[in-house]
Amino acid sequence: MAYKISDECIMCGACEAECPVSAISEGDGKYVIDADTCVDCGSCENVCPVGAPSAE
Ligand code: SF4
Ligand code: SF4
Repeated sequence: MAYKISDECIMCGACEAECPVSAISEGDGKYVIDADTCVDCGSCENVCPVGAPSAE
């Protein structure tokens, strides 16, 4: 289980800065989460202005 970023992402970069394990990186049209690295802390969901990250 890992968090996933939806197409709602506006590429603000806020979540990348908050992730404690650096699982988030800039992808093609949206930011993406590396499922193997994510520790399900929820910080990205809390900081995102548009609610794009969510637990799968
Ligand atoms: Fe990073 Fe936590 Fe979001 Fe997973 S849930 S991508 S560990 S901030
Ligand atoms: Fe996209 Fe939300 Fe992350 Fe900003 S905080 S890059 S809108 S997922």
